[in-house]
Amino acid sequence: MSLTSAGGVNIIGAGLAGSLLAILLAKRGFQVTVYERRPDPRHLNANGGRSINLALAARGIRGLKLAGVLERVMKFAIPMRGRMVHEHDGAAALQLYGVRPEEVIYSVSRADLNRELIEAADAHPNVAFRFGQLCIGFAHEKNALEMRDEATGHIYHADALPSIATDGAGSAVRDALVAREVAGVREEPLDHDYKELTIPSREGKPALEVNALHIWPRGGFMLIALPNPDATFTATLFLARLGANSFEALGSAAAVDEFFAREFPSARALMPDLTKEFFEHPQGSLGTVYTQGWHLDGDVLLLGDAAHAIVPFHGQGMNCAFEDCAELDRLMDEHHGWAGLFEAFEHARRPNTDAIAQMALENYVEMREAVLDPEYRRKKSEAEALEKKDPNFIPRYSMVMFHPEIPYVEALARRTVAR
Ligand SMILES: Cc1cc2nc3c(=O)[nH]c(=O)nc-3n(C[C@H](O)[C@H](O)[C@H](O)COP(=O)(O)OP(=O)(O)OC[C@H]3O[C@@H](n4cnc5c(N)ncnc54)[C@H](O)[C@@H]3O)c2cc1C
Repeated sequence: MSLTSAGGVNIIGAGLAGSLLAILLAKRGFQVTVYERRPDPRHLNANGGRSINLALAARGIRGLKLAGVLERVMKFAIPMRGRMVHEHDGAAALQLYGVRPEEVIYSVSRADLNRELIEAADAHPNVAFRFGQLCIGFAHEKNALEMRDEATGHIYHADALPSIATDGAGSAVRDALVAREVAGVREEPLDHDYKELTIPSREGKPALEVNALHIWPRGGFMLIALPNPDATFTATLFLARLGANSFEALGSAAAVDEFFAREFPSARALMPDLTKEFFEHPQGSLGTVYTQGWHLDGDVLLLGDAAHAIVPFHGQGMNCAFEDCAELDRLMDEHHGWAGLFEAFEHARRPNTDAIAQMALENYVEMREAVLDPEYRRKKSEAEALEKKDPNFIPRYSMVMFHPEIPYVEALARRTVAR
């Protein structure tokens, strides 16, 4: 089918990428049907009332702007000017992210952002959301998606049209392409897991500096915290699954309490519900998904985490997924058929998503170790001084976070050359 006839398109997954993509396709006149396994998040208190936030940077901002939703997102976004590094002895110092006032990143609530994007997409008469619909596979011979209604258990087929799968890191559509040997996948799990916890407000006031991303780096592991609009912070512990300092070793409230008091005393003092939350909140796993063969002819395309999930240490998974959406939109001006478009999309994006996957892994070491190292700090100050003097000199972190005009692959290569 030709793109110019602007027919129907399915999107599988109304998460961050799927709902943004629905807006972009609607603006181009397509009839968009979005299938999402969860109930409509606009009618729920998502995450059981827990705030989970993400860092939004320039690449994500560019995608939101293109869709015309940036202003509404900025209403609940909190600027973070740098990393507040908390040392063992309680000393804390801010390391600025950029050298210019506009070089900040933003803390945004995942649930609020997702609701806002769904709301904006739903305002288009040519977008239909179908919540509670799980995609369980893809029947190519029938050119149909295999779907299950989560409320009734009814299994049915939906015409594949072209279908764009934004069903996240555990993508069922990717599994279907792999089973058909269209796609090849390599999953590299990290041996560190994460757990989200809360730093509540103190008498309605934030317990930490609001305009910063807080880090308690401890070499082999770390705690971070991002601000929320209600004066709380969402803290995330990143820690090995097994071993001496590990989730495995934190099997009792006493062990959790002792570990936090020993390793993160300044944060422990701000977390009255620590041990309760520790055992109530899930322990999440992390990893990188490398996929080759993101599309099946012009019928199905993987996009966002479904194609290339990465570890969260550069704060880029969502930003990269939004950049995917913008890139697909841009390529639509150059292609008249879905197969050619999907092919060009993978060709353009995969080197870049491989590059950010590598930089995200490297940044874990930087965040949990290097920021404490005096030599690292000296080099960072030198780089900042150079950047202020010479606009052509841009450190890698800035290229990734503040310069969407520089592709990830170039950010990785330029740093490699400088070494
Ligand atoms: C701890 C942590 C911290 C992170 N921090 C950041 C950060 O600071 N900045 C950043 O940019 N990124 C961050 N990320 C990454 C970011 O969350 C993801 O990259 C982003 O959510 C990807 O968007 P997506 O739309 O591809 O997938 P998702 O947002 O995961 O959306 C997938 C959607 O598909 C639905 N779905 C799944 N399977 C099916 C199915 N079979 N049928 C129908 N629907 C289905 C899901 O319910 C969901 O709504 C972080 C990730 C983690 C784990």
